[in-house]
Amino acid sequence: MQKIQMVDLKTQYQKIKGDVDAAIQEVLDQTAFINGPQVKKFTEELREYTGAGYVVTCGNGTDALQIAMMALGFKPGDEVIVPAFTYVATVEVIALLGLKPVFIDVIEDTFELDFNQLESKITDKTVGIVTVHLYGQCSNMEEILKVAELYNLKVIEDNAQAIGAVYTFSNGRKAQAGTMGDIGTTSFFPSKNLGCYGDGGAMFTNDASLAEKLHMIANHGQKKKYYHDSIGVNSRLDTMQAAILSVKLKHLNRYSKARNEVALRYDLAFANHSKVRIPKRVKNSSHVFHQYTIRLDSSINRDEFKEYLAQKGIPSMIYYPLPLHLQKAYLNYGGKEGGFPIAEKLCKQVLSLPIHTEMGQDQQEYIIEQILNFFV
Ligand SMILES: *Cc1c(COP(=O)(O)O)cnc(C)c1O
Repeated sequence: MQKIQMVDLKTQYQKIKGDVDAAIQEVLDQTAFINGPQVKKFTEELREYTGAGYVVTCGNGTDALQIAMMALGFKPGDEVIVPAFTYVATVEVIALLGLKPVFIDVIEDTFELDFNQLESKITDKTVGIVTVHLYGQCSNMEEILKVAELYNLKVIEDNAQAIGAVYTFSNGRKAQAGTMGDIGTTSFFPSKNLGCYGDGGAMFTNDASLAEKLHMIANHGQKKKYYHDSIGVNSRLDTMQAAILSVKLKHLNRYSKARNEVALRYDLAFANHSKVRIPKRVKNSSHVFHQYTIRLDSSINRDEFKEYLAQKGIPSMIYYPLPLHLQKAYLNYGGKEGGFPIAEKLCKQVLSLPIHTEMGQDQQEYIIEQILNFFV
């Protein structure tokens, strides 16, 4: 049996090595390392894949969030609602732009932003909602968009973890994660579901004028070279990364399927377990399983469990150990212990198990067996 990893990028690469190496070689031969033709090509392919009106690529998923908020015209002092249980990038850019993050709790079973609490967070300073499609499934966009429309708020979807997931609205309309709000953002960090071999990111929108703003802001605020209409940033997807992503995008559906197969085997193994809770699915969303995250019963010492797995050669990760409102850097936004009880509880209970596109059945059977043994 091969060594078990959280993510196996090496085996994944070896299976598509011929195409990836050729794509990289082509970039080397052309030497258009910035804004080469592969960037445009990949942008169009991603637009077709997601069904978004417009795609604008950028340097990484954090930049994508920042550029999105700049393009939407959020001003210092404006309030942006953001889940307390997510990766720090989401709230970091809110703070960086001088906006005020207003935390909201999440739903225990599905880890998504608790849309039932949205209205109670809205003030006359609220300008937007950032929802995070955590671990690979869409949050309840129908409810979020309903509230946003009612209060005239912008919606940003942080789609760094759920590219390719599909949401079905109650009228039957289907849309991909990242294409339903005003702007969707994503990351091509190597371990993400569509990962490049360095940093990369993209933004999605269906609004032509927003797309133009995103493009302009990502390029130093210029439409015409050396003429700057707004303050911008420098955030670009390298040509080489775009070339690699073009190759990998062709495999994304197969990768999502492989992840789902792993998830299903975990589901079957733990569905009726009294100490392990399997991740519940959001109604109306498919899942692409960026992570397979279980919740341990409170009678189980997570550190002990994690250490036991490590000793058996099974890695596991805690995404995330501390909610954002209790992070030192963000305490000045008024966060207190007990403020967001579900987020705090999840931080103590969650554990993400190995899941990736190259997982062998023998590896997974071993993982499952060892986990079950822990409890006997
Ligand atoms: C990875 C991630 C980001 C940031 O992406 P980078 O490309 O690393 O900047 C933002 N939000 C979420 C939820 C993520 O998982």
